[in-house]
Amino acid sequence: MRLILIILLTSILLVNCKNEPSNQPSSVNFEFVELTDGVYSCIHKFGGKAICNVGIVDNGHETIIFDSFLSPDVAEELLKTLQGMSLSPVKYVVNSHFHNDHIRGNQVFSKEVNIISSTRTKELIAEEEPLQIAYEKENAPARLSYYDSLQRSFKGDRQSREYQQIQMWRPYYETLVNSHLTVKTRLPNMFVDSIKNFDGPDRKIQLLSKGQGHTESDLIMYLPDDGVLFTGDLIFNNCHPYVAHGDISKWKAWLEFMNSLEVSTVMPGHGQIGTDELINQMKDYLMDLESAAEDLVKDNLSLEEPENLSVPDKYKDWWFDRFYEYNLRFAYESLNTKKPK
Ligand SMILES: [Zn+2]
Repeated sequence: MRLILIILLTSILLVNCKNEPSNQPSSVNFEFVELTDGVYSCIHKFGGKAICNVGIVDNGHETIIFDSFLSPDVAEELLKTLQGMSLSPVKYVVNSHFHNDHIRGNQVFSKEVNIISSTRTKELIAEEEPLQIAYEKENAPARLSYYDSLQRSFKGDRQSREYQQIQMWRPYYETLVNSHLTVKTRLPNMFVDSIKNFDGPDRKIQLLSKGQGHTESDLIMYLPDDGVLFTGDLIFNNCHPYVAHGDISKWKAWLEFMNSLEVSTVMPGHGQIGTDELINQMKDYLMDLESAAEDLVKDNLSLEEPENLSVPDKYKDWWFDRFYEYNLRFAYESLNTKKPK
């Protein structure tokens, strides 16, 4: 079941919540965005193979990369991008959490580059990746054929949400199938379980971990001088997050903590860059999810009736809508486990 959830979760990653053309350098897979001098984002493109967002921060002494994409091929594109910039040497790659789309580019970086995560995330990568890759090898080819056939036979409006969903999912499975030929798990070798500072002449960089949230262990990167926050999957923008590997209460506490920081710019794990409003948007989503679960209990409604699991109007335009059902079921089960015995 966990593997199924993981593959569904990562399918999320396909989603790009529409982007505008922007700065150079460019890739078909991600949009390169300069946030300020020495601080950049690679935002995954709609229908591309980057899948997650990546941050690049130069403190004037060394450069840190935040997350590394699903596909080693796209991580190679990132390397080429980095080589074309006048950055301080890349010394670290951060894995915000264990999900495949945030870690599989690790292998393209030279062995001198340290891979940083929390201790628990390293354990999760070591435990889950072999199982996840085996599951994908067995199932991803059929999923790719399925989306290939949907795309070939599609006769409707190509601007429709239905067609766009096909365009999001197909490259995800194509990426998995192709990357299985070369993927080689590279585990983190440096660990941050509370806070670690990387201060340089140009700016301070903080890596912060407060444990469970989107997964059993999450890590964020904060630039206090710039007010920039790289959140990993603790924040999705205009996309349903996937909650069933985490803990909703602890996730909300993470968001409260983010609200205590001076933040003007947020790079989420998926979707477009935004302001600190993204923090409360995610918190509202989790609170609405809990309220919906409480209503199911209060009104004695069944999870077996599809109409009880439908996406609220407020979130109808968000991508990854199929995750709402999984999220609501998880919130419902979390409620039950909290009941006094
Ligand atoms: Zn994730």
